[in-house]
Amino acid sequence: MPSLIDPRIVREFQEITGPAGCLTGPADAAPFLAEWRGRYHGVADLVLLPATTAEAAAIIRLCGHHGIGVVPQGGNTGLVGGAVARSQVGSPEVILSARRLHAIRDLDPDNYTITAEAGCVLAALQSAAEEADRFFPLSLASEGSCMLGGNLSTNAGGTNVLRYGTARELVLGLEVVLPDGRVFDALRALRKDNTGYDLKQLFIGAEGTLGFITAATCTLYPRPRGVATAVVALPDPAAAIALHSRARLALGDELIAFELLGRQALDFVLEYRPAARDPLSRPAPWYVLLEIATARDQASAEADLEAFLADCLESGLLSDGVAARSGPQREAFWGLRHDISDAQRVGGASIKNDVSVPVSQVAAFLEAAQRRVGEMAPGTRVVAFGHVGDGNIHFNLSQPVGMEPAAFLDLWEGLTAEIGAVAVGLGGSFSAEHGIGLLKVPELHRYRGGVELDLMRSIKQVLDPAGIMNPGKVLGD
Ligand SMILES: Cc1cc2nc3c(=O)[nH]c(=O)nc-3n(C[C@H](O)[C@H](O)[C@H](O)COP(=O)(O)OP(=O)(O)OC[C@H]3O[C@@H](n4cnc5c(N)ncnc54)[C@H](O)[C@@H]3O)c2cc1C
Repeated sequence: MPSLIDPRIVREFQEITGPAGCLTGPADAAPFLAEWRGRYHGVADLVLLPATTAEAAAIIRLCGHHGIGVVPQGGNTGLVGGAVARSQVGSPEVILSARRLHAIRDLDPDNYTITAEAGCVLAALQSAAEEADRFFPLSLASEGSCMLGGNLSTNAGGTNVLRYGTARELVLGLEVVLPDGRVFDALRALRKDNTGYDLKQLFIGAEGTLGFITAATCTLYPRPRGVATAVVALPDPAAAIALHSRARLALGDELIAFELLGRQALDFVLEYRPAARDPLSRPAPWYVLLEIATARDQASAEADLEAFLADCLESGLLSDGVAARSGPQREAFWGLRHDISDAQRVGGASIKNDVSVPVSQVAAFLEAAQRRVGEMAPGTRVVAFGHVGDGNIHFNLSQPVGMEPAAFLDLWEGLTAEIGAVAVGLGGSFSAEHGIGLLKVPELHRYRGGVELDLMRSIKQVLDPAGIMNPGKVLGD
């Protein structure tokens, strides 16, 4: 990693962090420069790992002083290139990793809150809550490596949004190092705090362009006593939406997840993971994985789900389905869902889209988007799945069998633009939960021009006039 930064400045960074917090060798830096989808490869002058908020503040102050770009990074599982450094002559960049900021500072069971540092891995937060008989509901397939700061900076969604909201809705307080090195300390654990503008929300979903999150106070929920899960077969997405409406009415807040899977997605998983089993004896075009959680015991959760499914079978809303009979079977159902992204590799080159529409428009979206893809790239295999209970569809595409992967990837821009346009035309968004990063900057300009983009630029200008925080991400270069 040949550095564009003067060795004397490198020594100043080393003085702030100590040797363990300043990586200069290529082997040490490599994991911070690779990106999950392999679309981008980062170039950074240094990787800096502060162990305290004060160290992070000193680093950012020094970067500001020398005009060095700061690329915040958590678990590096983002899917839009937001944590990729792009150092070049004239604009050096460092990666500022939250990895060593991983303490849980406080867990207050009576206040149902947890205060943790940005580098806490999401699964560790979930476990800490569980040990205290509480529940931290944010849940993503990447939870074994993504980190709280990254989750908040992307306003992560995941599988429990339906009941508990996105990451934004779980935050009560925040601590952020601003681009000028000052610390915005709003780590309050209050549910009522109407004291002017809600500034912490500015940093949530900002993808590191406004500051470096160092810690957050999040709300916890009671740990559910009973959790029951089922997979049901459906003829089409419209049936899934009808089932969703019925489930919300019948199950109320007990319904925590409602995930749609197309048959192509399941076929890829079965091929990719030989140990995986088709959940039902007969194949169906579409499936829903639904889960309920209750404050009552396991038997009650199972009874509620059974009663709901029986009612749907009787009324003709469903023709086939199976409820998990054990913990391992429940995990196997979720495995089918969580493996889709990886399993898509068996289908060759893929183009991935993460859009949202109002739940009532999901079927219309899928119908129109599939039709357009069929017209533009005949033979493309649609791998549609997602958090349909909150209108979020991962509308992924796998290359036609026998097509050159590169030729299919050449269609990326055109297909993605078309799918975004279909979603936006139905009142939806071209980016549901993955954010903008580098990948979707053109779409942001296309769909959020005018007043919205002006306001975003003004906020960036006020907080980061020198543009050192995550250069080029979200608003573009
Ligand atoms: C298999 C898989 C499944 C996924 N499923 C989902 C899903 O269901 N829902 C979903 O929303 N996402 C999902 N993602 C995407 C990703 O996991 C989330 O966006 C996650 O929140 C990113 O966290 P991270 O710690 O890896 O952040 P990173 O990838 O390191 O960073 C993401 C962005 O946040 C910024 N950032 C990171 N840390 C900080 C900080 N401390 N302060 C300021 N800015 C910071 C970075 O600069 C970057 O812009 C999935 C990813 C994978 C690989």
